[in-house]
Amino acid sequence: MITIKDKTFVPFIPAKAIQERIQELATQINEEYADKQPLIVVVLNGAFLFAADLAKQLTISCEITFIRVASYEATESSGQVKQILGLNESIEGRDLIVIEDIVDTGLTLHQVCAQLREKGPASIAIATLLFKPSALKEKLDLQYVGFEIENRFVLGYGLDYDGLGRNTQDILVLK
Ligand code: 5GP
Ligand code: MG
Ligand code: MG
Repeated sequence: MITIKDKTFVPFIPAKAIQERIQELATQINEEYADKQPLIVVVLNGAFLFAADLAKQLTISCEITFIRVASYEATESSGQVKQILGLNESIEGRDLIVIEDIVDTGLTLHQVCAQLREKGPASIAIATLLFKPSALKEKLDLQYVGFEIENRFVLGYGLDYDGLGRNTQDILVLK
């Protein structure tokens, strides 16, 4: 159990289950990208531990790069727009694997993938550790999903509450 500010979080997905699932995802990626050299695009900050543990299980030749997604209010009417920061390499003709911590509404990855697509990659796949199907608002093809979970707020193993709590081996859930 962890308490951060006013919130209490209880155990949800233990470290061992996370690592076993990551090994399965890596095996799948190793098979499907055996004759490719993908560019792995890690969405910071939340995906940093998932990406690190996944990368250690990849036996394929690959590059790894890191992006951030900044949100800003474009206009009153269009709402939140997500902008990609930090992608310096050319992605034209590359096979991309985007690594996320969690897909909730799907809005972030929907916009990120649309911006990546404009730069002409050969393919885009998504690997997300967690997925809340019932919260999804945007259509997204998710090739690699660690765990489908119910629509509850989770913490740890990279995921934060107000900047805190990323540094745990287990995933916890709001009590
Ligand atoms: P989406 O755009 O899919 O709604 O949400 C994407 C981002 O919201 C995630 O990358 C993550 O940073 C944050 N998020 C969504 N659900 C949760 C959650 O249950 N816990 C935490 N800590 N962050 C979440
Ligand atoms: Mg994220
Ligand atoms: Mg966060």
